Amino acid sequence: MSVLKPRRVDFHAHLDLYPDLAEAIRRCDAEEVATLAVTTTPRAFPRNLELTKGSAFVRVAIGLHPQLVSERGSEISIFEDLLPETRYVGEVGLDASPRHYRSFDQQKMIFERVLRRCARAGDKIVSVHSVRAAKHVLDMVEAFLPPERGRIVLHWFSGSVSEARRAVDLGCFFSVNERMFANSKGQALIRAIPEDKLLTETDGPFVEREGTPVSPGDVGPVLEALGKVLSKTPEEVSRLVNSNLSRIVS
Ligand code: MN
Repeated sequence: MSVLKPRRVDFHAHLDLYPDLAEAIRRCDAEEVATLAVTTTPRAFPRNLELTKGSAFVRVAIGLHPQLVSERGSEISIFEDLLPETRYVGEVGLDASPRHYRSFDQQKMIFERVLRRCARAGDKIVSVHSVRAAKHVLDMVEAFLPPERGRIVLHWFSGSVSEARRAVDLGCFFSVNERMFANSKGQALIRAIPEDKLLTETDGPFVEREGTPVSPGDVGPVLEALGKVLSKTPEEVSRLVNSNLSRIVS
């Protein structure tokens, strides 16, 4: 992500959904957090890109969030036009939760176009949402984005342990946030992920701590929780995640 050595990794944050995008970027740079700033619509991408021009630690992904596909699906053509501007893609994926199930067929069409474009371009790194849709996401990744054509990072993965294993076999990485440790199912899932596939994320400002959105780059609680699961200190987990990041971007 950067030639500079980061202190932390936040591989899925919505910097442009905080009150002040420029301030959020400055904060990630000041704290030396390698940050993937995901976007939810292609139209949001250019401003993010512009404001991160001088940033050492923030990279911007172009996205079309599955929850916005019903209103913004037509922006897929903008996505395709702007894709050459960045190596990073997200947030994209599928959401089969009750509120969004109506658009599920359209979501699949859009996600297929995204994956095919990424495969054709090569070398993209894609941050993927998969709420209640792990199987469909993995089926589509398998069909449309072979591992030698790009890398998938499953963000806030909530599938089963066997789906996590399948994802590993498909070459996927996982970005893990503090909310995933809230229940035993999430913990079991995280235990099923090989150490060398783990990244950290805040998913801020969607993830909140006592009613307040977590700050960009504030992955401290994730490092602690992962440390307990892996029997490592937070610093050891941080080194592991840094080396996973170097591998994924190399
Ligand atoms: Mn998100």
